[in-house]
Amino acid sequence: MARVLILGGGTAGLVAGRYLKAEADRLGIDLDVTMVTASERHYMPPLFMEVALGSASADETWAPIKNAEKVYGFKVEVDRVTEIDLANRQVKTEGGKTYDYDYLFLGLGVKYVWDKYKGMSEYGYHNYTLEGALELHKALSEFKGGKIVIYTPEGPHRCGIYPYEMSLNLRMYFEHRGIENVEITVVHPDKRPGIGLGPDLVRFFEREMEKANVKFIHNEGHVEITPDKVVTKNAEVDYDLLIKIPPIAIPDVMSFMASEKDPRWAKVIGPDFRYPDYDEVYIVSEASMPPLGLLTAGVPLHNASIVAATSILHRIHGGYPVAEYAPTMCVGHGYNTGFSGNCEYEWAGSKYKRECYLLVKSPLVRLMKDSFYRGWLDSLRL
Ligand SMILES: Cc1cc2nc3c(=O)[nH]c(=O)nc-3n(C[C@H](O)[C@H](O)[C@H](O)COP(=O)(O)OP(=O)(O)OC[C@H]3O[C@@H](n4cnc5c(N)ncnc54)[C@H](O)[C@@H]3O)c2cc1C
Repeated sequence: MARVLILGGGTAGLVAGRYLKAEADRLGIDLDVTMVTASERHYMPPLFMEVALGSASADETWAPIKNAEKVYGFKVEVDRVTEIDLANRQVKTEGGKTYDYDYLFLGLGVKYVWDKYKGMSEYGYHNYTLEGALELHKALSEFKGGKIVIYTPEGPHRCGIYPYEMSLNLRMYFEHRGIENVEITVVHPDKRPGIGLGPDLVRFFEREMEKANVKFIHNEGHVEITPDKVVTKNAEVDYDLLIKIPPIAIPDVMSFMASEKDPRWAKVIGPDFRYPDYDEVYIVSEASMPPLGLLTAGVPLHNASIVAATSILHRIHGGYPVAEYAPTMCVGHGYNTGFSGNCEYEWAGSKYKRECYLLVKSPLVRLMKDSFYRGWLDSLRL
């Protein structure tokens, strides 16, 4: 029997686990699929923005990952991984257990490096964790008017569209509360909003931000954050409330797998997300996307997990086709509307090349996005 060990019970781990188990059962492959994950909660992080804005409760953002055993049929152990021993194909945990594997799928997410930039840990709010979202919700509820800055020190960060979506949602949030005197500014290292998603999406965001009276400043380099100011190399921007986006990096337990070129990211090779030093190891997280030319968000990771899972199946069960990296649909909020963009990919030898375009602009997309997240979590609720 082949053993696949999945580390991490977020989007990447869950997609891999359910795909591997379903296909193994369908094809009669004798496969043990075990997940080890630190938290009993499987979160849907995009809903943290809804928590901050008061349109979702804390309990609506997660479902118990242990339920994946009943729903999808693979084993789930809730325990923290403390050591990954690739030479001996073993993983050790805080709970004192040792797991052996034939194939290892690393879906441990990323760490947030708040202290990388001066003033970033000390000041401001965020909704990159549930706790952060609850604090931001309180700060927004008490906000009576003034200057809000949404600040990103570096990219790529988790979910490239988030700062723009948040700025547009904030305008609606204050309009619904009848608060008019709010100045909203996005300060971001992109030269234009959403530039990584192609010219259609740039046009979309620029028009929406103009309508919603949101100002955009290109951040040419971080200097510092003070209690009332964001200082970059090209601007000093006053704030009354700061919303910040964290820099990301490979998690500590995987730090020995970092790329020499850019230690934020994992050493990884495509097209199927393998760790080059140990062929049976796959890395699927935002730390493995930029080196392969891919986007850092849940939908792109979903595709990456499928590619990696099919690559494992291909090796266990000769002839099983390795999936191509499918187009990624980027679904987001605008100002009183929503949008859906699409990116298509082609493997170009060492990286994926992408081409992105706008598919649809409609208020219905907001509903689609919300239903998708809630339905995803409902499937894990018994
Ligand atoms: C505010 C916000 C808005 C977003 N909006 C969108 C969006 O609109 N569209 C989109 O596609 N994406 C969006 N994203 C991004 C998306 O949520 C992430 O890309 C996705 O959740 C990442 O999944 P993951 O499995 O790689 O990591 P995670 O979800 O972080 O999962 C990592 C898992 O590893 C576990 N773990 C960590 N360390 C250990 C350890 N040592 N031992 C054992 N287990 C461990 C954790 O408990 C967790 O279960 C958004 C994110 C945020 C924060």
